[in-house]
Amino acid sequence: MIIVCASCLAKNRVPAEKLSEKPTCGQCQTALVPDHAIELNEQNFSTFIQNTDLPVMIDLWAEWCGPCRAMAPHFQHAAAQFDHVIFAKIDTEKNPRLSQAFNIRSIPTLVLMNKTTEVSRISGSLKSQDIQAWVTQQLK
Ligand SMILES: [Zn+2]
Repeated sequence: MIIVCASCLAKNRVPAEKLSEKPTCGQCQTALVPDHAIELNEQNFSTFIQNTDLPVMIDLWAEWCGPCRAMAPHFQHAAAQFDHVIFAKIDTEKNPRLSQAFNIRSIPTLVLMNKTTEVSRISGSLKSQDIQAWVTQQLK
């Protein structure tokens, strides 16, 4: 499968059975499925989402949003539990066009994407356990 490096946008070919072995970008060595959420923005989003063959769990958030900050460590904790889902954050303040494209009405909102298809979304601050259960259920 192909996983795009969110840092340098190189397209990396990764065998599915190597996903649990912490694959890194062949060009810049950045972890491709890290134990923490990556940053997506208006510069890297399209290339990343169109070319990455893993589901992507996106947290749309903002710095001023208390519930978003409350969920942040839970989202990071959940990110470490999956080696076949990439967790990503999008700052809605810094990326208004993405926020608009997602038609975000409240934050935090979690959107699960499979390539350019939205699988499902859920709004509100969730605990790590709930995030994990939700992702697992949606990907069944
Ligand atoms: Zn890279």
